[in-house]
Amino acid sequence: MSHPQNGSSDRTHQQQHPHVPPPMLSSYGPNSTLRSSPKRDHNPENYDDMRLQFNHLIFTSLEQYLPPHLLNRSREDKANYMVNILHRYLPESERVRIQKHKEYRRKILSNYTPLHKEIYSVHAENFFVPSFLQAIKESREVGFRRVMAEPVKGIFTFQMLQPKFCEKLISEVDHFERWVNQTKFRIMRPNTMNQYGAVLDDFGMETMLDRLMNDFILPISRVFFTEVGGSTLDSHHGFIVEYGTNRDVELGFHVDDSEITLNICLGKEFSGGELFFRGVRCDEHVNTETQSEEIFDYSHVPGHAVLHRGRHRHGARPTTSGHRLNLILWCRSSVFREMKSYQRNFSTWCGECRRKKKERERISIAATKQELLRMSV
Ligand SMILES: [Zn+2]
Repeated sequence: MSHPQNGSSDRTHQQQHPHVPPPMLSSYGPNSTLRSSPKRDHNPENYDDMRLQFNHLIFTSLEQYLPPHLLNRSREDKANYMVNILHRYLPESERVRIQKHKEYRRKILSNYTPLHKEIYSVHAENFFVPSFLQAIKESREVGFRRVMAEPVKGIFTFQMLQPKFCEKLISEVDHFERWVNQTKFRIMRPNTMNQYGAVLDDFGMETMLDRLMNDFILPISRVFFTEVGGSTLDSHHGFIVEYGTNRDVELGFHVDDSEITLNICLGKEFSGGELFFRGVRCDEHVNTETQSEEIFDYSHVPGHAVLHRGRHRHGARPTTSGHRLNLILWCRSSVFREMKSYQRNFSTWCGECRRKKKERERISIAATKQELLRMSV
């Protein structure tokens, strides 16, 4: 087997994204330097439920080093202070970029007037089809299996969104694009591979998408994708991609910058645009051969979602006619990313790591058999 032909490079591309800006930095006045040694008898708080830019464990560890006057302040105060400290360790270029992105979002939010205010926060009954809602309510594997198909290992497809919601989201994106054109506002596109489309987080949908991830995707990923951080998702990047003859036409073979990707077709009328999947791979094995059982092609259906690991290699075939919009939610886990940086073997999810491990086991068993034979002679 070889890589799919897609007219572009034959190397798998890592799709990049703009980062999420940090919370407000605040000033803490004098005496706000860290202690040189930890205050061991101070019991640090738990930060794992807070939306922080860095792993919550860093905050728990750093708390014993806080200056005395901060130790009894609120958890939010302490977290803010520590974010401030951690930012000093970011390179200058990163700080400037974060600051610029914050400013960019502020400009959009204070000038753009939404068309459908009601889709900026989650209204479950208006957003989702009843079968999906019921499965989420139960949050059990058997319920998910009832409404979701798994046509190939690790790819789940299911009916998710109401047609009415899809229409509203499409018209909101159209409305936003018109505003962009009228005001000549220069917007950032969703990633390095799409020239069209918009980042939903940049024009006010960040909170809504956060809830979508936490309340409607995490219950599923916790069951099916736990080995790639599926139970510790803590940030997202949400965007719309547009395909068609006057838009992006296709998307080359790549992996996403996510642990879990939710890809929902919103419509409208189109032909072509099938997704092709070719197995899950770790960084090291991203360009290794595809095994025959890993080949899977999927045709989009409006309102239907595909849920897969970000490391599941894929691409989109040309949308040959019409106009197609998809909502993409990249879900990430900072805990998983940190753990991954200390590991070398990913045989629980990388197809190639698994194949190599099996091969080693086969050789080892064969050697043992040989040895036994030799001894019995
Ligand atoms: Zn691997």
